[in-house]
Amino acid sequence: MRSITTFDLQYAHRFYGFKGEAQYLHGHTGTLTIEVEDSVNMGVNMVFPCNEIQKTAWNVLKNFDHALILREDDPLLPAVLKVYEEQGIKNGHPQNTMKGAAFETELAKAYPDCRLVVTKETMTVEGMIKIVYELLKNKLNIAKITFTSGVNVASCEFETKNNIERCPLCGIALVDGVCPKCGYKKQ
Ligand SMILES: [Zn+2]
Ligand SMILES: [Zn+2]
Repeated sequence: MRSITTFDLQYAHRFYGFKGEAQYLHGHTGTLTIEVEDSVNMGVNMVFPCNEIQKTAWNVLKNFDHALILREDDPLLPAVLKVYEEQGIKNGHPQNTMKGAAFETELAKAYPDCRLVVTKETMTVEGMIKIVYELLKNKLNIAKITFTSGVNVASCEFETKNNIERCPLCGIALVDGVCPKCGYKKQ
C-alpha cells in the first residue's frame, strides 16, 4: 500500500535557451506529490505517517520554496549573484530564516543563504522529479513522484528498495533499532 503526501512549492525559473516564452524569468506554484510504498506496519496500521514524510522531505524541499532555480550555465546566474553580493544578501540576511538543509547532488546544488538552487539540467517538471528522487531515494521508499507546474505535469514510478524498519507504536523509521520519537527499542 502507499502513503501519499503533497507539497506546494513557489519558485521562479526559466528555460535557458528554450525557444518559447518560458525562456523569460517567471514564477509558479508547483505541486509535488510523493508516494511512499511499503507493507502496512501492523502496529500502527499505516505504511508511513504522512507528517513524517512531510518532515523528511520538506527539510530539503524548503530549498525550492520562494527560491530562484537557474541552470548552471545560465548567464543570469552570475548576474543575479553580483546584485545579491552588492546588496549584501548573497550570504544570508536576518530575514531569510525559512531555510532548508544545504545539499549537493549530481543534478542540483542548493544555496539556502540566498534562496537559490543551481541545476545541471533545465528545471522542467521532469527535471524536478529527477532532482527530488535523487535527494530522497535513500530516506523514503519512493514509489512514485508527480510534479505539476502550470499546465505541465509529469510523473515517474520507481522501484522501492530500502528496507526501512518502522516503530510499531508510532510508525516512524527506527534509527539503530530505536524510535527517535517514543524511545521504543527493537527486541
Ligand atoms: Zn515555468
Ligand atoms: Zn515510536
